[in-house]
Amino acid sequence: MILPIRAFGDPVLRKVGKEIDKDYPSLQDLIDSMFETMYSAKGVGLAATQVDIHRRIVVVDTSEERDQPLVFINPEIVAQSVEQKEWEEGCLSVPEIYETVTRPDRVRVRAQDAKGEFFEMACDELLAVCIQHEIDHLNGKVFVQYLSNLKLNRIKNKIKKQQREAQQ
Ligand code: ZN
Repeated sequence: MILPIRAFGDPVLRKVGKEIDKDYPSLQDLIDSMFETMYSAKGVGLAATQVDIHRRIVVVDTSEERDQPLVFINPEIVAQSVEQKEWEEGCLSVPEIYETVTRPDRVRVRAQDAKGEFFEMACDELLAVCIQHEIDHLNGKVFVQYLSNLKLNRIKNKIKKQQREAQQ
């Protein structure tokens, strides 16, 4: 099922997601719907927050072929490189906006898979950017909040304009 993606400015994007325990109902359905939503929107990652579900779950696929789905449940960054890097980021909740953000170059993530098993993954390149960006969503933060207020206001106006145009 394709879920509606909330746009920046919607207060639900500021909510902090709760941990998922193994009794969470229909977890696999939620995972499937999140992948379907992410692939149909041509995104590389999606956090449950963006579809108004305030649980700590993220789906990612940074492969060219769009055939390497990764699911991270209750993800945590357990280590990060001192080196930082700049990357031009986008977000399904901030359509058509791409801005440079500086983050740690590499991170190690600990999470659970769909069966509740713990795993750790060393992430670099786009995957490192993506997982940090998605964990921010679970904490109620959108990437444009790293930018200056001037830029942020310009983006808010652009999104309002997009929304007005979409309603016409
Ligand atoms: Zn995002």
